[in-house]
Amino acid sequence: MTRGHRTISGTLVIATHNPGKLREMRDLLSRYGIDAVSAGELGLSEPEETGTSFAANARIKARAATQADGRPAFADDSGLVVEALDGEPGIHSARLAGPDKDFTRAMETIEARLQERGARTPAQRHAHFVSALCVAWPDGHCEEFEGRIDGTLVWPPRGTKGFGYDPMFLPDGHARTFGEMTAEEKHGLPPHGKGLSHRARAFMTLAEACLVR
Ligand code: IMP
Repeated sequence: MTRGHRTISGTLVIATHNPGKLREMRDLLSRYGIDAVSAGELGLSEPEETGTSFAANARIKARAATQADGRPAFADDSGLVVEALDGEPGIHSARLAGPDKDFTRAMETIEARLQERGARTPAQRHAHFVSALCVAWPDGHCEEFEGRIDGTLVWPPRGTKGFGYDPMFLPDGHARTFGEMTAEEKHGLPPHGKGLSHRARAFMTLAEACLVR
């Protein structure tokens, strides 16, 4: 454990109403003996994500949940940053899919914008995923971590395994997109991997600093 960080123990409130994220975080935390209960299960309301960065939005969600519940709370905020599109969709990654969460359309929108800008070579189509994590305590203390994975946006999308923008994201140094990888391959967590996805990388930093095996 890293000196100066606060240790997480007992139960964490996971500030998400998304069952997929809850499953993923519950699974990661259970390896460290941490129980997870979600803001959705507790009936906590979702705060407005008014931050201008991934880290700010993760902090807003974690702080709202710990203040409402009294136990430490964990939140993540993530998205796809496309350099050729001035960083978009970034913190608006979920919103680009619209109310129907139509990521086929969201990927088509990104591809159309890349075409408009003449981005054809892999270098011009470079992008990265970011995951910002925040654990907040009721006394106001926060622990914050960030993970990132760089890659190239391919067209047409490939694979049906992941979610969101996975089928068009080819991580650097790999021959298959996130959409063609199993969850285990995509996250690449120890003992088999060294951490591949942005979320796995952020979580590994958090575990190193704040969790006890
Ligand atoms: P959030 O719930 O505000 O963090 O929304 C993040 C959005 O970014 C998701 O809805 C996805 O569109 C996108 N995103 C984040 N992480 C991933 C990933 O691992 N694969 C594919 N898309 C992702």
